[in-house]
Parts: sequence; C-alpha cells; structure tokens
Amino acid sequence: MKILVAGGGPAGLSAAALLAQTSSTHQITVIERQGSGDSRGWGITLRRHALGFLNLAQLLPPNQLRSLAGRRLLVRGECRIDYDNPPDDSLVTIARDDLVAALARRCEQLGVQLRLGVDADQLRADEIKANDLLVAADGAHSPVRQRWAKEVAPNVGAGRNWYAWLATDRMFPKLTILFTDRIRPLLAWAYEYAPGMSSFIVERHDDSPAHAHELLLPVSLQRQDLAGEFAAELQGHRLFCAQSVRWKRFPLVRCKHLQVDNIVLVGDAAHTTHFSQGFGTMFAFDDACALAEALQGATSVRAALERYEGSQQPRIEEFQAAADKSRRWSEQLLAAAQARREDQVQALIAARWPRNDAPAAPAPKERLQRMQQVAA
Ligand SMILES: Cc1cc2nc3c(=O)[nH]c(=O)nc-3n(C[C@H](O)[C@H](O)[C@H](O)COP(=O)(O)OP(=O)(O)OC[C@H]3O[C@@H](n4cnc5c(N)ncnc54)[C@H](O)[C@@H]3O)c2cc1C
Repeated sequence: MKILVAGGGPAGLSAAALLAQTSSTHQITVIERQGSGDSRGWGITLRRHALGFLNLAQLLPPNQLRSLAGRRLLVRGECRIDYDNPPDDSLVTIARDDLVAALARRCEQLGVQLRLGVDADQLRADEIKANDLLVAADGAHSPVRQRWAKEVAPNVGAGRNWYAWLATDRMFPKLTILFTDRIRPLLAWAYEYAPGMSSFIVERHDDSPAHAHELLLPVSLQRQDLAGEFAAELQGHRLFCAQSVRWKRFPLVRCKHLQVDNIVLVGDAAHTTHFSQGFGTMFAFDDACALAEALQGATSVRAALERYEGSQQPRIEEFQAAADKSRRWSEQLLAAAQARREDQVQALIAARWPRNDAPAAPAPKERLQRMQQVAA
C-alpha cells in the first residue's frame, strides 16, 4: 500500500513505524510542516510499559528516561498528599523532543521516508488520491480535519483556564500538583524528566468569554512574576520558557467520524485529552495499534477504516470523560479560589486523589504486546 502520513509528531511517527513494521510492502511517507530542531514542549509522562512499543526502550538511552516515584499535592506550600506509586503502576518521563527523535529514528530504520518542511495544507486532491491511505496526524488544530470538516463533523471547544508549558531546574521526583493563591490563584503540574529539569505547566483562571484560544502576550515576559508567585515551591530555582510560548486554552476535540474515503484521523487530530490526566501520547500509540490491527486482513481500506472507527470511538468516549473530569477539577478549583470560597477550595482539594488509585490509560500493556508480536 502507498501511505501518506500528514504530521510528524508522536501520532504520525508511531503510526508510520508500526505500519512499516507490520508489512514490508507498504511504501510510507511522513510529511511534517516544521523543520528539524523545532521544539514543542518539555518533558512528558508515559506508563512504563509503553517503552516496549516499537522497541522504544532500546532507542532511548537510559539517561533520557526517568521514573517518577509517586504523586504529591502541595497547597500553599503545605504537603497535603504524598503517595508512592500504587502496585503495578509506574510513570516514566522523557523530553518530548527525545521521544519524537527516537520515533523518527525507528521510522528511518524501517524505510519510512520523512519529509520535513512540507505543509499538508498544500496537498492537492490528486496527490491524496494517488495514495491508498492518508493518515491525518497533524495535531489538535488539524488542517486535514478542517478540510474534511463536513464529513468528519468535528466538535472543537476550549477549556476555561489558560495554561502555559514552562520548565524549571527544581527537581520534582513525584508528579506534583502545586496550588498557590498568595497573589492570584494558580495551579502548576510539575515532574522531573531529565537531569536538573522538570516540566512546569501553569494554569490560571479567567472569566472572559471563551472566544480567544491564545493570548498575544508572550509568557516569557511574565516568567519572573510567575517565579515570584511560586517562590515558596521553587525555592530559588529558575523557570524557563521558550520565547514563542503564549497562554492558551486547551483545545477540546471530538469528531463524529474518524474517517472519510481513504483518510483517517489519529492522535490529537482525532481527539484531545486534557494534559492533567490525558496520556495523549499513549492515546496516539493506541490509535496506531488500532489502525494497524484494522488494516490486517481487511478486504478494503474502507472496511479497515470503519473497523478502526468502531474500535476507537468508545475508547475516546471513556478517556475523554476521565480527562474532562480532571480538567474541570482545575477550573473549579481556580474559580473557587478566585471567588474566595475557601470551603469549596478545601472540598475540591480533598476530592482530587482520595485514594492512591492509578487512572486508566489508553494503550494497555496487552494491546501493545499483541502488536509487538504481530510485528516481530
Ligand atoms: C501542556 C501539555 C502537556 C502534555 N503532557 C503530556 C504528558 O505528560 N503525557 C502525554 O502522554 N501527553 C501529554 N500531552 C499531550 C500530547 O502532547 C499530545 O497528545 C501528543 O503530542 C499528540 O500527538 P500528535 O502527533 O497527535 O500531535 P502533535 O504532537 O501536535 O503533532 C502534530 C504534528 O503535526 C504537524 N503538523 C501540523 N500541521 C501540519 C501541516 N499542515 N502539515 C504537516 N505537518 C503538520 C505539527 O508540526 C506536529 O509536528 C501534553 C499536552 C500539553 C498541551
């Protein structure tokens, strides 16, 4: 089969690599709008078993991976929850750029052609038709999805809080939620992912109508103020922020259909799950597995894509419900703090992690192992 993948993020690269691994006769090309060396974010978390997928553990040197020791919740500097990992659950962290580079290496090993600096928006209809399959893996604002919006019927909304993805050189060995309202209510999600580096994702409340999805003012101009607001938690450590980072509202993407003709949506182009409990990257791996499974033994591409949609829609519903609950918790907490409703703030804090339960995640071990066996 001739397969074109639009988007060289985790979804596009993992789908391309897995499809190449399951059939040596596929001719696969990935086109990516950005050039090499463009960075998008800091460290991300995955369940440890995901490293077995596509032999990622072999592609990633051990010093690029870290294990998180559990979860913590700090309220105004005071530790309110401190759990070690529950049995059978451990989170690993990795720089997003290192993961994408490892997936790109795997693609190259498997003969996938990577073309950087190519915009899928410019694809002509005849170029798309010349392929048996177009995999749209072009992210939450997917131009491909927008082009076929009538057929896939996307529903795109936005969370209420503003968020910004920063980093710090303070080490957070556990997945740590930090709540402060010394100056204004703020939440941060922090976890170490490299020697001397932790992701630090800040959320803030805003009552303004949800029509804007991104603010023009660069977050880097407010970096010092934010460091001051989290001074007690950062203990003299610095915050880092890329120049281009803006405050954003988290995009909420769901689609009535995940496929049309010879086009299929995977990863954030198909669905988003809030970063506070989303495992969006693992969901991208899950989509890659479902697509590869659906194509195996299918009588036609159409039949395979319908099977893929049937497999993933219930999973999207399940994991978006869990991620939405987590997103709403952040929104309610910051709104209650803004309104100075201390009773509500305390009730929400108590409700976050009442037990040390690991949330369900996409790409379960069994599915990834099954695909590895098929691929071997
Ligand atoms: C703050 C934050 C923290 C997160 N933390 C985690 C985490 O800890 N763990 C986790 O599992 N997930 C996390 N996620 C979610 C995760 O980043 C996404 O779910 C994941 O990156 C989805 O992969 P994707 O390939 O579908 O989309 P993307 O990563 O967005 O990649 C899409 C690619 O398509 C390219 N592209 C876009 N348009 C075009 C075009 N027209 N032509 C060609 N290429 C195009 C883009 O340049 C990009 O490379 C987080 C997300 C955010 C916002």
